[in-house]
Formats: sequence, structure tokens, C-alpha cells
Amino acid sequence: MTFDYDLFVIGGGSGGVRAARVAASETGAKVALAEEDRYGGTCVIRGCVPKKLMVFASEYAGMVEDAQSYGWSIKAGEFDWSIFKGKMDAELDRLEGIYRNLLKNAGVTTFDARAKIVDAHTVALSSGETVTAKHILVAVGGRPVKPDTMGAEMGITSNDIFLLDKLPESILIVGGGYIACEFAGILHGLGVKVTQFYRGAQILRGFDDEARGLVAEEMVQHGIDLHLGTNILEMHRDGNGVRVKASNGTERVFDQVMFATGRAPNTDDLGLEDVGVEIGRKGEILVDDYSQTKVPSIYAVGDVTDRANLTPVAIREGMAFVETVFKGNPTKPDHELIPTAIFTQPEMGTVGLSEEDARDAGPVEIYCTSFRPMQTSFAGRSDRVMMKLVVCGETRKVLGCHIVAPGAGEMIQLAGIAVKMGATKEDFDRTVAVHPTMSEEMVTMKTPVRINR
Ligand code: NDP
Repeated sequence: MTFDYDLFVIGGGSGGVRAARVAASETGAKVALAEEDRYGGTCVIRGCVPKKLMVFASEYAGMVEDAQSYGWSIKAGEFDWSIFKGKMDAELDRLEGIYRNLLKNAGVTTFDARAKIVDAHTVALSSGETVTAKHILVAVGGRPVKPDTMGAEMGITSNDIFLLDKLPESILIVGGGYIACEFAGILHGLGVKVTQFYRGAQILRGFDDEARGLVAEEMVQHGIDLHLGTNILEMHRDGNGVRVKASNGTERVFDQVMFATGRAPNTDDLGLEDVGVEIGRKGEILVDDYSQTKVPSIYAVGDVTDRANLTPVAIREGMAFVETVFKGNPTKPDHELIPTAIFTQPEMGTVGLSEEDARDAGPVEIYCTSFRPMQTSFAGRSDRVMMKLVVCGETRKVLGCHIVAPGAGEMIQLAGIAVKMGATKEDFDRTVAVHPTMSEEMVTMKTPVRINR
């Protein structure tokens, strides 16, 4: 049987674009890709990239204050959202252009259309064409979801925050995950009065307790009005704002309410179940270790599979798919020991097991230090940072590394190499300290603060 294409990719985000490009340019496969929205997907258009630009923008107010302590006679002016947003939009346009060009230069045919799977080898496009392919790769990502709270339609999500014409004066952020905590810091730094509700006992559930405790403490100390064990009961319009009745008995009006209450895979109306692709409880596509679905010609990578929902992971899953299917080299994407950063203020960088998870698994030694770093302490700030190693009591391997500090994302990338290589505590100790830095504490912690046998 002959097909129009060797590979048809649905979704032009990080995972889909990488798989399409590499399959076409490195194996000579005939590849097409459909994207219904903008090329670059969540990461480039409404996630990591604009978020990080906003993190940078939000940090300048504090830097100006600190500069005064260092003798500079400068004063912070007003933040102009429209100037920043204009530049951010132009940057996203530029990056989207790069994504389109990468595909074009690799010889991938693109369709600016929505695709729906008709059978194991056929895709129907919203533009009217029907195309066939030997393999179909679904890389359609996910989307933010709102809870079914009364009045939730009045709230915005992270998708909308990058599109605002003006910043609100006050905002309520609901949720305690990556997105909620990152935007609490960003918007606070840009001058918005931020309140955050999290329904649980501590934000950033699943991460190391001590690390998330310090992030929460610093967020509150910086001026974020964080309410734990709190959720919205009802929301009503009130003038241009939203009146919120909360489970802690308060009732207040906010200019905006933002829900950062999780994301769902984009599996609706793709024709997946009709052709026999299995969908999990959260709406995710179920795949095997090689990203193959129950239909042998259909694969899926990235957030739509809800494995580890991170851009670099989607890219690796896409690359492993190409190795397996187009290079004849069966390759499983490696989901072990993924280093990651949460761009809260201060940042958290983490790899491996939390103290709590490691303790459940066997004997551990915990090395941890928390201190006021030189740069901000000189400027009169009481900000604290934390460096922590979770060490296996038997093998001496570093099972987890957790950093809460400015630049933790940059630090954990490098510490992640050592942890992935299986470095022991003694390997860390043998490494000479880089002085004076914050991260030198990683190689100078001599005595465990806790031992669990
Ligand atoms: P998360 O799943 O991390 O967090 C969702 C939060 O919303 C949790 O605190 C959850 O509470 C809460 N929540 C869920 N449902 C409700 C509800 N009905 N009412 C009130 N609160 C609710 O999702 P995010 O949206 O923050 O992030 C999605 C994913 O995106 C992350 O898991 C991550 O993989 C990725 N991401 C990565 C980033 C990075 O690498 N820096 C940045 C941003 C996103 P509870 O804990 O009680 O369940």
C-alpha cells in the first residue's frame, strides 16, 4: 500500500516539530505536519518562553532597590506593560517564524489546519484535504483547565495572562502548582497585588517538603498574600472586578481571578477512540515505553501522553520515536532523574527523590544548609537560600538534590549531570568549592542534619 506521507504529525509544538524535522532531515522520510494554532506550541507561545521573559521583567524592581544599597543613586520608575508586551509579542512572532522555517528547511509539508484521525493511516484536515500516512504521531499537548466552581467562567488561565491589554491592580491566583506559584511571583514583581489560594496544606505538592516550605516562606515575606487550606466557594461580577467568597470565610473583590488548577491533554474530538487508541482517566493517550498506542501505526509524545509534562521531555520522546520508527533503533525515552526548575522567586531547582520519598525507600542521610546569601544580605534583605542533598545510607549515592536560590534552575542543570551519573556524596566532597558562590555549599556540607536508618 502506498501512502501520501511516511509520517504525519499532528501538533506543531516542541515534541511534534522536533520529530517531524529530524525524521525528514535525518532519514529522508516524507513528512507532513498539521497545526491549527501557532507554531511553537505551549512552550513558545503560551508557556515557558513568555513566562521566562515575564520572570526577567518582574525581577528588575528588586534589583533597583538592591542597587541603591550598593551605592547607586537610581530609582525604580513605573513598569509599562504595553512596552514590554509589544516586545514580547515581537519575540514570540520571531520564534514562531523560526519554528516554521525549521520545518520548511527540513522539507516538511505544513498544513495550517486542524487534523482529525479517520483511520489507522488517514487524517482529515479542517481545510478539506484528506491525507494518508504510514505513521501518525499525535503531539497535540494540553490545555489549562478550570474547576467547576460557581462563576469560574469569569476567571482567566495562564493562556490569557500573556494577552492582557493591561495588568490588573489586584489578582487572585488559585492553585499551588508550578504555574500558580510562578505567576504569583511574576505578577507581584510587576506591581500587581497578589493573593493566592491553595486548597492543600503546602504549595508545590510532591516536591521536597523543606524546599517548598522555604519557597512559601519567601513568597509570603516578599508580600504575596498566600492562603493555605483555602479555596473559592463562589464568584460573582462586581463592577469591573470579581467578588470572591472563600472557604476561609472571607469575601473580597479582585480585578482578576486566575485559575492555575492543572492542565488536561488535548484529546477531545481527534477521532482517537473511534480508531482504537486507548485514552486514560485524565484524557491522556495511553502509550507503551516506545510511545506507541494500541494502534500500531499511531504514536503519541509530549503532554498529550501525560508522562512528565515538560518541554525537554517532549523533545526527547519525539527523538526516541524517530530513532525507533525511522532509524530502526528501538529507543525508550528515559524518564528517570529529570532535573527541573520552578521559576518562583526564589527559584527551585530539583532532581531526584525528595527527602520524604527517599526515606520511604530506604536508609538515608540528609545534608542541608540554609543561609542568607552575600548579595542580598549586603543589600539588607533577609532572603534565605537552601541547598540540600539526599544521600542513600547504603550506596552513598546522591538520590536527590534540591536548591532554593536565585539561579537554582541554572545550578540544577549541572548538579543533575552528577546525580544522573550516580555520583556519591564523597564525589561531591572531592570536588573543590568555587568561592565565593552559593552553590559551593553543595560540596562543603560535612555533617548530616538527619540520619534515617
Ligand atoms: P499542577 O498540576 O502542577 O497544579 C495544579 C494545582 O491546582 C495544584 O496545586 C492542585 O491542588 C490545584 N487544583 C487542582 N484542582 C483544583 C480545584 N478544583 N480547586 C482548587 N485547586 C485545584 O498544574 P499546573 O497547572 O501548575 O502545571 C501543569 C504542568 O505544567 C506541571 O505539572 C508541569 O509539568 C508543567 N509546567 C512546568 C513548568 C516548569 O517546568 N517550570 C512551569 C509550568 C508548568 P492539589 O495539589 O491539591 O492537587
